[in-house]
Amino acid sequence: MVKVKTKLVSWDEIVSWSYGLALKIKESGYKPDIVIAVARGGYVPARLICDFLGVENLVSIQSQHWTEAAKKAERAIIKFQYRIDLSGMKALLVDDIVDTGESLMLARDFILREWKPKELRIAALQWISPVAKFKPDYYYMEVKEWTWFQYPWTRLEDTIQFMRRMLLEEGKTKKEWSYKDITGKFMEWYGIDVGELYFKSALEYLVKEGLLRKVCEDKYVLAK
Ligand code: ADP
Repeated sequence: MVKVKTKLVSWDEIVSWSYGLALKIKESGYKPDIVIAVARGGYVPARLICDFLGVENLVSIQSQHWTEAAKKAERAIIKFQYRIDLSGMKALLVDDIVDTGESLMLARDFILREWKPKELRIAALQWISPVAKFKPDYYYMEVKEWTWFQYPWTRLEDTIQFMRRMLLEEGKTKKEWSYKDITGKFMEWYGIDVGELYFKSALEYLVKEGLLRKVCEDKYVLAK
């Protein structure tokens, strides 16, 4: 039984979804003078949209969610608050996904206030409509049931986190693991196969971190 609804996204899908998104923008008649990528998730789609729409100007803004452990309150912040002048320009803000949409809203407000474009529209590949706090002007796919999109640009990061979560839970009853045990359980939990390069790199990371100990060629022991 899959524990976390996850969709493994391929590079080919990214190209075709970005193309579809660019087409929607084109059909609406909006011709942006500049594209703004939201770092880090918006980089690849933003670059592809520039290509498909023939936009030469591309900048980025980094909006990130912080968890303040002490307060247990989450807030997003704009990192590197540089100022540029976009007056007279039509801008397009691009991100991979609108989940809660909080970091994107923060970026939008910052840009409108500090960079002052003539117009700003928002585009994302995915829009998770039941949880999003706003609807982007353009989206390629409306997602009605919350899903984790495992994009190719966060594959290692996600694999490490997914594997850690799974091992901490399953490790309560099973201490010794082979490579096959780990990857098999991973696929059972998440329903995706990220491939050997990512599985092995994530394992290496978790060994370095101290969660796992490699006792012989194909035997890992949970250290905690
Ligand atoms: P929040 O601000 O609550 O973290 P956002 O909707 O603003 O949520 O998303 C911030 C970034 O986190 C996204 O641009 C994306 O890179 C990543 N992200 C959030 N939700 C998902 C998801 N369901 N699948 C994949 N990536 C996600």
